[in-house]
Amino acid sequence: MLGSGSPNAEADRVSSGLAVAVDGRPYLVDCGHGIVQRVVQARAKDLITWDTTDLDRLFVTHLHADHTVGIPDLLYTPWIHGRETPVDVYGPAGLDHMLDHIQLAYAENIREHRSAHPSTEQGYRAAAHEVQAGLVYQDERIEVHALPADHGDLAAFSYKFVTPNGTIVVSGDAKPVAQFADWARGCDLLIHEVYSARQLPDRPPAWREYHSRAHTSTRELAALANDIRPSRLLLYHQLFWGLRPQELVAEITSEYDGNVVSTADLDVFEL
Ligand SMILES: [Zn+2]
Ligand SMILES: [Zn+2]
Repeated sequence: MLGSGSPNAEADRVSSGLAVAVDGRPYLVDCGHGIVQRVVQARAKDLITWDTTDLDRLFVTHLHADHTVGIPDLLYTPWIHGRETPVDVYGPAGLDHMLDHIQLAYAENIREHRSAHPSTEQGYRAAAHEVQAGLVYQDERIEVHALPADHGDLAAFSYKFVTPNGTIVVSGDAKPVAQFADWARGCDLLIHEVYSARQLPDRPPAWREYHSRAHTSTRELAALANDIRPSRLLLYHQLFWGLRPQELVAEITSEYDGNVVSTADLDVFEL
């Protein structure tokens, strides 16, 4: 887990981002603020065997800023570190437009860096792959499947990573959809967003309405987990609204008897 937080900047959590690593190869899911820095920290602490220069595949759940604002950092910082390959980015419609405009915004940086410094030819480039439901990526280590998610008026996906060691499902930002439980059933890790059902009544009415419509409460997640029965349920994109992590977990475990973890940045989970 690289970023376990939400759009609300928090002292000890950056926004959304995690890596699924197979045989020392990272597959990044979302890239909010601070994600590249978290990779540098994880490397310095020997939590991972790969490095920023290995970041060349990104799966974007949706285009909200807390999931994408780190993309310029992902394109240009590992380039300085010597990455030689372009970044393949998978995600919903609008991704191609976003990536084109990021490169335009940083055109002066790219021009100067290429002319004045030793730099690789491809390492800052990005290739957009706008995906539909179903199998969206496959190589010798991994299959990645996408399921359309309900996140209000924004195209969004949940992703399922099928690896030789097990299956990992990442919700992205989502209100539960009918097919999700069947699609995710029996996975090894269910990494799911959540907000506190207990604290929701204290939110301003407009936010209460929005979160009820576009996100998943602890009660809804407990019901989902009872249906899916993952080996472990990992909470991320957590809206605590003043609760401590164990209190958020307790809201779920009062209705679900499985293993539930409130993740923190730099947590590592092995299959
Ligand atoms: Zn969102
Ligand atoms: Zn979000």
